[in-house]
Amino acid sequence: MASKKLLLLPGDGIGPEAMAEVEKLIAVMNADLGAGFETERGLVGGSAYDAHGQAISEADMAKALAADAVLFGAVGGPKWDPVPYEVRPEAGLLRLRKDLALFANLRPAICYPALAASSSLKPEVVEGLDILIVRELTGGVYFGEPKEIIDLGNGQKRGIDTQVYDTFEIERISGVAFELARTRKNHVTSMEKRNVMKSGVLWNEVVTQTHKAKYADVKLDHMLADAGGMQLVRWPKQFDVIVTDNLFGDMLSDVAAMLTGSLGMLPSASLGAPDAKTGSRKALYEPVHGSAPDIAGKGIANPIAMIASFAMCLRYSFGMVAEADRLETAISAVLDEGLRTRDILSEGKTEVGTTAIGDAVVERFRALSA
Ligand code: NAD
Repeated sequence: MASKKLLLLPGDGIGPEAMAEVEKLIAVMNADLGAGFETERGLVGGSAYDAHGQAISEADMAKALAADAVLFGAVGGPKWDPVPYEVRPEAGLLRLRKDLALFANLRPAICYPALAASSSLKPEVVEGLDILIVRELTGGVYFGEPKEIIDLGNGQKRGIDTQVYDTFEIERISGVAFELARTRKNHVTSMEKRNVMKSGVLWNEVVTQTHKAKYADVKLDHMLADAGGMQLVRWPKQFDVIVTDNLFGDMLSDVAAMLTGSLGMLPSASLGAPDAKTGSRKALYEPVHGSAPDIAGKGIANPIAMIASFAMCLRYSFGMVAEADRLETAISAVLDEGLRTRDILSEGKTEVGTTAIGDAVVERFRALSA
């Protein structure tokens, strides 16, 4: 890839504080490794509303469409609670996901050995955990029509959502899961509710056909989504890649996230379809956490989720696998040294702020790259 165009959308609350730590890494990669990142900045969420009266301006949307990858901080906060629904901060993120057609949401749940004790599960159940949930993001019950509340005229109302999936949607999300599995432990578990839902029957059928046609080298298991929820908290290390629909993925990825301890540690990626000519995918990388207004501006936010999101960007948008590995090793090393932001602090560890963690990761990364 000739250039590497990154659009930075720090957003609101702790978003800009966390993004600043990634900007340090980008500068180091450009200076030391000649990585060639070209960055632009834009506004999203409440900050975009304050500047333009919109959750994201058309100019910034155009930049997002032209970029190779978008790095997104977080949006929202009480200041913008009164703004009209269509321009609420989250509308900026939804617009980005829709216009970039980001149908595949990747949520890793990695438990760093140094943090195994902060999980609500026993350390031996989560230590060394490394699973990836691939959630379908643009279809299913969150978008299916009809979607309405109707008045039945007899004092009753009826709320309707429609779970709907077409073959191509299941084919393309399972294809993403199988391809990612090939770069990991080569094992996919597909989760649906084929015992009670027609969309689950089709999901199961299409995943099985896609596997047979193109990915027979990958181990495939099917599991009912409720049983999958139980297995995730019983023995999560049995999984490698889990592929599931929008609704089950929303819930299962939050369950998996909590296995690892803190919101401040969790990255994510959302990918679109490969471009027919270049093969590259539109992509947006963001931490799972929100704008954390309760700690914004205090310099105590954990930047690791944002930094780990950048590691995913290196891996999935730019094929910089060695650099992504080094960055993840650097994060792990900083935790092993005992440096902690308040959200992951435990006895005997050293509490430091956002910039100190960011600086330590940069330093470790440079040492590993030397
Ligand atoms: P939140 O994730 O912002 O915060 C939940 C709790 O976790 C808070 O106590 C916060 O201090 C803590 N926390 C979160 N990230 C942290 C980090 N990196 N380091 C240390 N502590 C961290 O969720 P919330 O409080 O429910 O929502 C706050 C605002 O964020 C709301 O306006 C909400 O709509 C928005 N939100 C945005 C996104 C997004 O931008 N993708 C996601 C979730 C929530």
